[in-house]
Amino acid sequence: MRILRRLKPGTRGRHVLAWTATVAVAAVGVAGCADTPGGQQPTTGPTPTPAAPTTTPFNSTPASPVRRPAPNPTASAMAGGQKVIFFTFDDGPDPHWTPTVLQVLRRYGAHATFFEVGDMQSAHPGFSEQVTAAGNTIGSHSVSHRILTTLPPGDLHHEVFDGPASTCFRPPDGATNPRVRAAIRAAGMVQVLWNIDPRDWARPGTPAIVHNILTHARPGAVILLHDGGGNRTQTIAALNQALPILKTRGYTFPPLNC
Ligand SMILES: [Zn+2]
Repeated sequence: MRILRRLKPGTRGRHVLAWTATVAVAAVGVAGCADTPGGQQPTTGPTPTPAAPTTTPFNSTPASPVRRPAPNPTASAMAGGQKVIFFTFDDGPDPHWTPTVLQVLRRYGAHATFFEVGDMQSAHPGFSEQVTAAGNTIGSHSVSHRILTTLPPGDLHHEVFDGPASTCFRPPDGATNPRVRAAIRAAGMVQVLWNIDPRDWARPGTPAIVHNILTHARPGAVILLHDGGGNRTQTIAALNQALPILKTRGYTFPPLNC
């Protein structure tokens, strides 16, 4: 896969510690629905095709070719009417936790999408390839995990355009606004947030993570977890408990189409 590396390896993006909502909406490719709080169904209709811009969408930024709009990443997996849940893992790849998550997923025949940070890919080469070789997909979580909403145009452009190659983009901390969404669209990607945040990043205890997942689980939900940013022992344990229970409820676990 294409990985654009510009920053020096070993630099670590700021970890997620400032989520302001426990439940947010997964905005999957449809403009204007990303900031709505609450537990609504994510929009799953087809992505509208915007008129092709004829000029670069940013002032004071390098001219970049505007890429084709990306597809809705949940649409194909939900088309068959099956009970699906989308697991997502942010802030990796991590040389220990990413392979451990992959092991658990494999144990239960599950797949997931990994929203990776460009700096982490550079610091830990080879792990993204393990993710995709196992049938999972990769989304971009920016180059260095900076909060995008307040960045100058050139920095925003770099964080969105030069991160991990994907058609899915999840802004760090879920912080977004019209300018961020426009950059994501211009880069040929769709913004993907989440429906269920079990707060594994705060290490609330394995039972709390499992309980959060199981009580909020519903078809089409996107679950936010982490394979980077610190000790993920609770995440792994919770995954080992939640996956078999969700399986008995009839769920399957496809990756997002990214
Ligand atoms: Zn993050």
